[in-house]
Amino acid sequence: MSRIRILSEHIANQIAAGEVVERPASVVKELLENSLDAGATRIAVQVEGGGTRLIRVMDNGAGMDEDDVLLSIERHATSKLRDESQLAAIATLGFRGEALPSIGSVSRLTILSRPRDRETGTRAEIRYGRLHAVHEDGCARGTIVEIRSLFGNVPARKKFLKSARTELYHIEEVIRNQALACVGAAFSLRVDSRSVIDLPAGGGVEQRVRDVFRCQDPLLPVDFTAGDEKNGLRLSGYLLQPEVSSSRTNRLRILVNGRPVRDRMIRHGVVEGLQGFLMKGQSPAGALFLQLAPAEVDVNVHPAKLEIRFRSSQEVHRFVVQAVAAAIKAYQEEVRSDIFSIPAPSPEQAAVPLFTAEARRPLPASSPPEAGSGPGEPVRRPGNMAVRRSAEPAASFRHDQAPFSAVKPPDSLADFTGLTLIGQFAKLYLLCEKDDRLIVIDQHAAHERIMYQRLRRDYLRRDIPGQNLMFPVSVELDPRQLETLKRYDADVALLGFAVEDFGESTRVIKAVPALVSHLDPAEMLAEILASLCSAPRDEPAAVVPPRIDHLLASMACKAAVKAGNRLAPAEMFELLRQMKDSELFSHCPHGRPVVKIFSKQDIEKWFHRL
Ligand code: ADP
Ligand code: MG
Repeated sequence: MSRIRILSEHIANQIAAGEVVERPASVVKELLENSLDAGATRIAVQVEGGGTRLIRVMDNGAGMDEDDVLLSIERHATSKLRDESQLAAIATLGFRGEALPSIGSVSRLTILSRPRDRETGTRAEIRYGRLHAVHEDGCARGTIVEIRSLFGNVPARKKFLKSARTELYHIEEVIRNQALACVGAAFSLRVDSRSVIDLPAGGGVEQRVRDVFRCQDPLLPVDFTAGDEKNGLRLSGYLLQPEVSSSRTNRLRILVNGRPVRDRMIRHGVVEGLQGFLMKGQSPAGALFLQLAPAEVDVNVHPAKLEIRFRSSQEVHRFVVQAVAAAIKAYQEEVRSDIFSIPAPSPEQAAVPLFTAEARRPLPASSPPEAGSGPGEPVRRPGNMAVRRSAEPAASFRHDQAPFSAVKPPDSLADFTGLTLIGQFAKLYLLCEKDDRLIVIDQHAAHERIMYQRLRRDYLRRDIPGQNLMFPVSVELDPRQLETLKRYDADVALLGFAVEDFGESTRVIKAVPALVSHLDPAEMLAEILASLCSAPRDEPAAVVPPRIDHLLASMACKAAVKAGNRLAPAEMFELLRQMKDSELFSHCPHGRPVVKIFSKQDIEKWFHRL
């Protein structure tokens, strides 16, 4: 007699349940998918005891007749796949025909269902995998699935469950994700007869995203397509503002062809697209919907269908980076036209000068840099943004520094920015007025972003201007630093440094990045080497590698006007003009916001005038 036997269906179901039904939330997920596949527009979930006592899902979908109810609990029974060819392009959420029998094998399952064309419904009861009773029963059109005593027959599995609170959290997550996938349907969750989620239908995607993330702040819309309608890619959805911190409920939700999935590749693409907009340790938040030809993605790689596989994942990754970067850019344009649009001058505005002639006097012009590459002269792009090296301490903002060197005072108060400058607050914030709104700008963050954009652009052109040192600086490097320098010498040169060998462990710094030429060259090099040394070896590929991006941000920070610098009105105008002209400007490269806008109503509320 053979030792190998085919497992009974009962055992096979229990084994499948081990994969499909990890916890109460997995049950909720499968049931929601079934309701949505049945075309439901209203789905109500009830949970008791963290999901182990009761899970009930009620829908107004197509329902099942008696035959279908009985078939639905058979293993590998599905109405969603007919032949092999369909497996290559699955259009429904379910397709495996495993969920109901698996769930039924580890719980007491009741299905009550009625299709549209029947007067009465069918009730079927399954107890731990065995059909207990079937009979006719009255019910509304649609389906009610009830699961009691989940894992009642698998105590080992039950032991692995976390606290009821944790399990409920996972259930809520599942519902929120599905609610994003199906904006046209209403979802509700009651936990021990307390309403926890109540998402009405009909509000559209943006409203659903707001409801799910409980976010009132402006959202960053994403909508980007590539290729044609049939084979193309589309990424749409909304991201939360980068500064809205990512708590557990504020995270990135990714839906591919309407299916909520976990996908590290897409996530990474989003993070890369947001490079220079996320604060340290912060992760992106929002809901992104990727649509592509079903044949381009394999959804049949995970028993609970939580993961997927792309046919050309690099292409998808590149597309996501582009889409998110484009969204950030479009958002900038919106903010730009919102705060910098030039209003038709009102007669009153033109008449009252805010600044005295004194304040509008041109600043002393910096001496024009001469061409050439002698000591003290720019190395690469003479006359552009390189500046003379000066002995002045770096702490204070100097007029001869490149960004504000060519300040021309504005001819009229709001001429090139459309903003009316009120003044500077706390030597840090520029206060401006525009259309009954108070616009507050962090001078350091704003300038830092402008500098960073410039550095990034120059880096991508392989052309960050260096500045020759009048007095080359020799430094002693330790073995670790020497090794880092050797490994990253190309990076160091690209940043604008010229470092030459001078014996064993001595190196001579002959040029430094022009933008930060006021800083101590030796310290700067040591810092850069330390940062490069700690960069992970297998960095993900990116347009600007993270190790470099980090350094560019740090250089920008050092080059930017500091908090605590009093700015003359002309300088403030110049900063505003540069913001207006900068490709990106809404956040500093570390993700901190640059601009905050208070409406007149906001302020009136402070004073109880409303
Ligand atoms: P799958 O969803 O992979 O087909 P399931 O075990 O989840 O497998 O469900 C089996 C079948 O039962 C489905 O194909 C569907 O025809 C039917 N069914 C399940 N739930 C519902 C529901 N809420 N409304 C209508 N039909 C349902
Ligand atoms: Mg299913």
